[in-house]
Amino acid sequence: MFSEYLKNISWEETTHRINSKTDADVRRALCKEHCDIEDFMAMVSPAAVPYLEQMARLSRHYTEERFGKTISMFIPLYLTNSCANGCVYCGFHSQNPMARTILTFDQMEDEYRAIKQTGPFESLLLVTGENPAKAGVPYLAEALDRAKKYFDDLKIEVMPLSAEEYKELTHHGLNGVICFQETYNRARYNVYHPRGRKADFEWRVNGFDRMGQAGVHSIGMGILIGLEDWRTDAVMMAHHLRYLQKKYWRTRYSVNFPRMRPAENGGFQPNVIMTDKELAQLTFAMRIFDHTVDISYSTRELADFRDNMATLGVTTMSAGSKTDPGGYYTYPQSLEQFHVSDERTPEEVFKRLRELGREPVWKDWDSVFDKPHL
Ligand code: SF4
Repeated sequence: MFSEYLKNISWEETTHRINSKTDADVRRALCKEHCDIEDFMAMVSPAAVPYLEQMARLSRHYTEERFGKTISMFIPLYLTNSCANGCVYCGFHSQNPMARTILTFDQMEDEYRAIKQTGPFESLLLVTGENPAKAGVPYLAEALDRAKKYFDDLKIEVMPLSAEEYKELTHHGLNGVICFQETYNRARYNVYHPRGRKADFEWRVNGFDRMGQAGVHSIGMGILIGLEDWRTDAVMMAHHLRYLQKKYWRTRYSVNFPRMRPAENGGFQPNVIMTDKELAQLTFAMRIFDHTVDISYSTRELADFRDNMATLGVTTMSAGSKTDPGGYYTYPQSLEQFHVSDERTPEEVFKRLRELGREPVWKDWDSVFDKPHL
């Protein structure tokens, strides 16, 4: 399990090594076809800042070599904002006295139909807070069963499950699971996750092994930028990605680097502010480090920035997202988990991507993952 592996990697030592990288380390990394973790550290380090243009060119080259110009489009649907956890940065945390909603199965179908009206999406991400009693595996199984009628590619972003539970959901059409570790800083993890099942660092970080054991086709990983030093968290995630790729080599992987936005409770402000330039640096570094991983940007990012990055390394994007349960049809005015920054319709995003020479695709399996050389 990855928690055992992680015990051998010191957070402090990793931070020190990243900050000690030199100009020569960066140049050496950029000359390599296959980079290792040391190279990744160099590319995310402050020493790499003067090389951003070169990194952007390399990132575009490797992306187009592997993915062509395709951008896979997906849309999230929040099924419930009910949650037993206490993430201090999230408006859905259990102690926030707000109205809670769990969509009924009929409401879900209304949402599925409403989403199809916004664009020809075939890739749907079902999202829940953590309420295993009322929105647990049987609820998710039914949500997937009903969604199958409308969408070809179904993923979930829900509480970590057991391997058996993931396996069971694959029988209901589950194709992928996205989970955010949020931060790999073990010592500080509970500052942000003080209550509920999410307070158990090991359970969460080993969830990715359980997805691999269950044979989930696609695993999405992510760190929440704004909690801890983003460079160190990114390197920890790179370790995790390599570990999983070695162990569960049939699985496809994607990465996300969402930047924290204001929560509805208004209390928690990010500890770390990452600039657009730094997010670009991290994106390029990840692409040069791993030519095959899917890099996903959500509507948390502004439209112009997303458009730029769609030509430089990003391969998956959401569009037209609502981050509140039932936001497409049932409760269009309810409370969001976070504000979206790119408020364009899917059609507007599609048109802009075409103008930029990209090829937006609506089915995940239309993408070029399985076609090595386009
Ligand atoms: S981030 Fe997720 S798990 Fe944490 S409080 Fe919000 S909905 Fe619940």
